[in-house]
Amino acid sequence: MIKINENFKKMKPNYLFSNIAKKVAKYQEENPDKKIIKMGIGDVTRPLPKVCTQAMKKAADELENAETFRGYGPEQGYDFLREKILENEYKDLGIDKDEIFISDGAKCDCGNIVDIFAKNNKIAITDPVYPVYLDTNIMAGRTGICKDNGMYENVIYIPMTEENNFVPLLPKEVPDIIYLCFPNNPTGTVLTKDELKVWVDYARKNKSIILFDAAYCAFIEEENIPKSIYEIEGAKDVAIEFKSYSKTAGFTGVRCAYVVIPKTVKGYDENGNVEDLNSMWNRRVCTKFNGVSYIVQRAAEAIYTKEGMKEVKDNINYYKENAKIILETLKECGIKAYGGKNSPYIWLKVPNSGKSWDFFDTLLEKVNIVGTPGEGFGPSGEGYFRLTAFNTKENTIEAMERLKNFLSK
Ligand SMILES: *Cc1c(COP(=O)(O)O)cnc(C)c1O
Repeated sequence: MIKINENFKKMKPNYLFSNIAKKVAKYQEENPDKKIIKMGIGDVTRPLPKVCTQAMKKAADELENAETFRGYGPEQGYDFLREKILENEYKDLGIDKDEIFISDGAKCDCGNIVDIFAKNNKIAITDPVYPVYLDTNIMAGRTGICKDNGMYENVIYIPMTEENNFVPLLPKEVPDIIYLCFPNNPTGTVLTKDELKVWVDYARKNKSIILFDAAYCAFIEEENIPKSIYEIEGAKDVAIEFKSYSKTAGFTGVRCAYVVIPKTVKGYDENGNVEDLNSMWNRRVCTKFNGVSYIVQRAAEAIYTKEGMKEVKDNINYYKENAKIILETLKECGIKAYGGKNSPYIWLKVPNSGKSWDFFDTLLEKVNIVGTPGEGFGPSGEGYFRLTAFNTKENTIEAMERLKNFLSK
């Protein structure tokens, strides 16, 4: 008889975005003439830089000829891409080529990384949070069940709210694995170098590890905000970093990302012996993965050309312009809002101390705008709401006009 992984039963039955999709589909079916503007899901809308699609076509042509054909590539990724990453993202940070592993997405990386850690590690997540960190640990059996307050047993929740200005405070109980994501999804807020250093020092003191998700680093415009955790002194001993081309270069459908595991990051076995996490991850990658396609890695390489960098920057500025429009409108309407500066996400406080899902329904039905209820990202997200800057400028302007009109009534 086939036994299932019982941990799956601990998962909440519906994924946040499928709930939203159902509500939107129902409303649209009942109101076919209404134009709904979607500012919910974190997917990009700007097309790929042309140098990237051209690099893909060229790579495809190479595969047509026996002389230039390529089969399996290195599991860790091609050197041509790893070298470009070092040069452009980790200059002067002392990272080594074989500390970089190319993958097909930061979501998979964040989910797969738990393979190399013992089941009895205690995890800490910020609340609200990108759901992948929590759900993959539920599946792996590292949590208890979900309590009535919406929190899982055996997980340390670190609230990020207005009260602490969205800067996570050190928890009372010491975690083994700490998930941090900055610029943050969903709140759009950032940490300064000093604020992040507090966490690096804490991890060093406690022999914990920080899993640092920097998927939105390209949106950072302020000087003292770290684009990589390795800008913080001492982080190379305690942090693994995840980066992705999805939100930065429009690769959500193309799929390419990478994880950085310095050889100096250590874990400990049951007897307290030191183990090298870079080797463990390398072993895992070679066992379960056969690399990202050659075509896609050539496309990623092209991002680092002069034209590629310019197009990426233009696209990011396009989204940021939208974020600015949203922030300004919310301010005019007297709605408190956070993020949106070094990030494509705007995290707003639901007016009149309202609930996230009620605000979702109101926006959908009265203004025909779709956003994401903060509660869907964790209990501390209740009372907040996420809007994204990933729509077109025209739609963003229209949505904000509608919102202004609705709220002034
Ligand atoms: C979108 C997103 C990712 C996923 O990126 P992929 O590379 O497309 O898998 C990872 N982390 C956060 C916080 C994200 O919002």
